[in-house]
Amino acid sequence: MNYLIKNAHTILTGLTGDAARSNASAIRIQDGVITDMGNLTALSDENVIDAKDCVVYPAWVNTHHHLFQSLLKGEPQGLNQSLTPWLASTPYRFRGAFDEETFRLAARIGLIELLRSGCATVADHHYLYWPNMPFDGAEILFDEADQLGLRFVLCRGGATLTRGLEAELPQALRPEKFDEFTADIERLVSKYHDHSGQAFRRIVMAPTTALHSTTPAQLRETAQLARHLGIRLHSHLSETVDYLDAARAKFGMTPVQFCAEHDWIGEDVWFAHLVKLLPEEIQLLGQTKTGIAHCPQSNARLGSGIADLVSLEQAGMNISIGVDGAASNEAADMLSETHATWMLQRARKGMFAQPKYEGGLFEGGADAATIEDVIRWGTKGGAQVLGLSDVGTLQVGQQADLVVYQLDDPRYWGLHDIAIGPVASAGQANIKHMLIGGKTVIQHNQIPDLDMLELAAQARVAVQKLQQRAQQIAWAC
Ligand SMILES: [Zn+2]
Repeated sequence: MNYLIKNAHTILTGLTGDAARSNASAIRIQDGVITDMGNLTALSDENVIDAKDCVVYPAWVNTHHHLFQSLLKGEPQGLNQSLTPWLASTPYRFRGAFDEETFRLAARIGLIELLRSGCATVADHHYLYWPNMPFDGAEILFDEADQLGLRFVLCRGGATLTRGLEAELPQALRPEKFDEFTADIERLVSKYHDHSGQAFRRIVMAPTTALHSTTPAQLRETAQLARHLGIRLHSHLSETVDYLDAARAKFGMTPVQFCAEHDWIGEDVWFAHLVKLLPEEIQLLGQTKTGIAHCPQSNARLGSGIADLVSLEQAGMNISIGVDGAASNEAADMLSETHATWMLQRARKGMFAQPKYEGGLFEGGADAATIEDVIRWGTKGGAQVLGLSDVGTLQVGQQADLVVYQLDDPRYWGLHDIAIGPVASAGQANIKHMLIGGKTVIQHNQIPDLDMLELAAQARVAVQKLQQRAQQIAWAC
C-alpha cells in the first residue's frame, strides 16, 4: 500500500544540525520506501494519513534488551540491590523458571510495550541458554517480532564458564560447551541472518559479558568467527565499578584494554552501559569508533551511575539507546528511555558544576544534550551500531519506519514547541499511525487483532507461576 502523510506540524529526521527538522510537511511512501518529502498532494493510488497537529518521528531503534525479563518487573528480592547481588536475586534466580509459554508471553509483552512507544527495531540480548534447553528461544523471539511487524536483531548470548554468583544455581543452568555455542551461532546465521541494510532479521555474536562468559582465548575466537560470518559483536561492559575490579584482578588490565587485546573493539562492536570508564578507555573506544547502548533507566535503577555520552561522542564513539531488561527498568519503552537520557545527561554535567571561587567555569549542565541529540541517538545512532543503513532517519530513499504522534493529552498542552513533546514531556503519547517498512503496525493507538485485557490477565497468572517455580527450584537444590 502507498501512503501520503500530510499536514504534519513538524517532521523530525534523526539527522544533525539544521537537518534535524525537515522543511517538509508531507512524506510520500511507495513500496515501503520514502520516495518524496515536501509540500505534496495525494496521488490517486495513495492512502492519505492526515497528520494535522501531529509530529512525525523516525521510529526508535532499541539496541539493548532482555525480553524474558518483561515478567520480572519490580521483583521484591532484587528491588533495592545493586548490579551483582541483583543479578543473583532476580534474573538468574528466575531464568530456570521459564518454560516455552512464559518465555513467549514475556517476549510478547516486552515487544508490545516497545512498539506502543514508537519503536520499530529491537536488539535483544538473549542469554537463556544451557545444555538440553527445552525450547528454542531464538525461534520464539523471531516469531513474536514477526507477528508485530518489527525488525529484530538477536544478540546470541550465553556463557561457557560459570560465573561465581551463579555457582549455587541448579544443574539445568550450567554453561554450554564452546563448540556448541559456536555451532548454534552458525546455525542461527544460516537460518535467519540478512546482511542487507533494511534487514528484518539479524544475528549478533554476544557472549553475555566480555569479562566473565568465556575464557580469554575463546573470546578472541568469537571475534574471529563473527568477522568470518560477517555479523556484529555485542556484550555488557563496565556497567559498574565491579568491572574495573574484576578486570584488574583477573587480567591485570582495564576492561576496555582487555577487550581490545582480544579483538573485541571497533566499528562492528557495541557495548551496553559503559558507565564506569577511565579516560584512556574513552580514548580507545572513540578512536576505534566502537558503539554504546546507553541504558540510563536501568543504570539509575541499579544505582550504577550515568554514562558520559558527551565525552563518548566527542571521542568518536557511536551512541545509541537501549532500554535493557525490565527486571531493572520498570519503564522499558523508548519514550521513557529517551526522556531519561535527556534529563540525566544534563543532571550529570550539573553534578560537576563548581563555584567560580573554586575555578568553576559553568553554572549547570543544560547544554549537555538537546532533544534533537537524543532523537538522533535513539534512531540514526541505533541503526548505525546495528549496521542497518536503510533505517533510522526520515529521508528520501530510506525505509518508511515512522511514527505519527498525536499529542492530545493534557500533558502536552501548553507546549510552545510541540515537536519536542514525545521526549520532553514523556508519558504514553497517542500514536495516530505507525509504519514499519511501509506497513501499518499501529493505527489510532491500536495494534490490530490484539486483546490487551486478555494479555494483562495472562501476565498476572504468569507472574504467580514464575514465583512458584523459582521457589520450587530453590528447594530442589
Ligand atoms: Zn543488559
